[in-house]
Amino acid sequence: MASFVYSLIPFIGGILTFWLGLLVLLKNRKAKVNQTLFGAIICITIWLLATFAMFLSKEDYWAIFWDRVVYAGVVFIPITVYHFGLSFAKRKEGKLLYLGYFLSSLFLILSRTDYFVADLYRYSWSVHTQARFFHHVFLIFFVFYISLFFLNIYQYQRKVKGVERAQANYVLLAFFILAISSLAFLPAYGIDIKFPFLYFTTILCVLILALAIIRYHLFEIRVILTEILVGAMGVLLLIFPFLLPAGYRIFAIGVFLVFCVFAYYLIKATHEEAKRREEAERIAIQERALRESAEKLVKRERKLRLETERLSGARNQFLLSAQHYFRTPLTSLIGLLELMMTGSFGKEKLSQTFQSALELRKRIEEGLDISQFQSGKAILNKEEVQLEDLLLKTIEEFRPQLEQKPNLSFKINLSKEKLAKIKVDIKRIREVFSNLIDNALKHTLKGKVELFLEKIKEKNSILFKVKDTGIGIPKEELSYIGQSPFERGKEAKKLSPMGKGIGLYLSRLIVEAHGGKLWAESEGEGKGSTFYVELPIESEDEKK
Ligand code: ADP
Repeated sequence: MASFVYSLIPFIGGILTFWLGLLVLLKNRKAKVNQTLFGAIICITIWLLATFAMFLSKEDYWAIFWDRVVYAGVVFIPITVYHFGLSFAKRKEGKLLYLGYFLSSLFLILSRTDYFVADLYRYSWSVHTQARFFHHVFLIFFVFYISLFFLNIYQYQRKVKGVERAQANYVLLAFFILAISSLAFLPAYGIDIKFPFLYFTTILCVLILALAIIRYHLFEIRVILTEILVGAMGVLLLIFPFLLPAGYRIFAIGVFLVFCVFAYYLIKATHEEAKRREEAERIAIQERALRESAEKLVKRERKLRLETERLSGARNQFLLSAQHYFRTPLTSLIGLLELMMTGSFGKEKLSQTFQSALELRKRIEEGLDISQFQSGKAILNKEEVQLEDLLLKTIEEFRPQLEQKPNLSFKINLSKEKLAKIKVDIKRIREVFSNLIDNALKHTLKGKVELFLEKIKEKNSILFKVKDTGIGIPKEELSYIGQSPFERGKEAKKLSPMGKGIGLYLSRLIVEAHGGKLWAESEGEGKGSTFYVELPIESEDEKK
């Protein structure tokens, strides 16, 4: 009877191992590590269940038959376990793997012959076939691949940290215990094993892996699977007492009770662990969300503050500019008119008065222009013109200014081919050219100012470019300069306190009214700037 009870051990081991393998596979069928573990487990299951059948066999013929079935699983154990080790340790599959599968297949064929195992050896409580020549060879193969498996996992365990290391430790332990069970072949060499403790180790191995699953998400199975596993074991152990003769029943019930205690703590621990993990994850998610929104708020606050600072700067600039803009010419006009009233005026004074009045009118016109362009009501008097000619004429205005700047090299680069004539409001475009050239000269004390006029072939437009080596424009200023009136750069204010921040804005409005684009580029402060004006050769309304 003892032999019957003993033979149940590989049966339980087989069922449990298979159950675990199946759960692992079902959890994530696509993960290589789950697949390879399942492969190894199939072989182990064949080994254990066929062993159970062999133990039950009454006739020698069947005992030998079942033992050959045992070997059908066993010959593939080293290579499938090695394969699992590769995917667990995230290593590449290589020639050694393919060779292993080939050799295993060879051993499978050999194990059908008497050159592998033959005859039966009877020991104290059961039987085993006897090892022959190829069985010895197989043992070498077995030891070689299983050692490689442990080596791979060990090296991986050294490399990783945290949860991954803990997982690797569990795998090492579980398979080390499983490896002990491989000594089950000893009777094949005439060594009697008095008690089937070797098969126990398979059950232990499953329990350790289950524990690892619970604690470290190994193979990504969690609470439910543990419960299923424990439940299945419970049912199995509960059936036992009914299968056994009365004398052994008490033993089986004892095992069942011990199991229940174990199961209780296992499930409790699982739940607690899962709850804690979920809680921790939830807190972590909340924390991350909070941190993110706090960061966003800080960023927004900073942006708003900068914007406010800039706007208040622009407002001050506006007030200041408005003073210069209208009051300065008006003041001198009034002063001169006073002189006229007292009768003490000459021709020169009269001409100054006239200049001031003109200046004032210009300012008012600028203001009107801006509001007309802004509202889209500005009228353009378009005429056909050769832009090169217009530019050269504009440059003439700057001759006196250039003569005063001997440190500055001034260069004009016209396109080699004659540009197409273009229909523009000549006065306005001349204003734009003039403004950009004036700005470049104003903001460049020494170095170079270069003008370019060329065709952009891909776009059928003309590009006017003013490149200087002057004070440059910092990145943050680039985003708003020329976008609204009275916007001026910090350095520019120092350099020309009388500037108004009108020219660039008005130029942009003019260019845009022509269907073109005006923009600036600069590497930053002190690194010069380039201003671009792109004008379409054929404007939208002409196309129509
Ligand atoms: P203003 O020259 O009267 O200040 P603009 O409207 O012509 O007004 O120019 C607006 C601002 O653009 C200037 O104050 C200056 O900060 C910047 N700017 C224009 N041209 C240049 C340039 N060539 N180099 C550096 N900054 C420039």
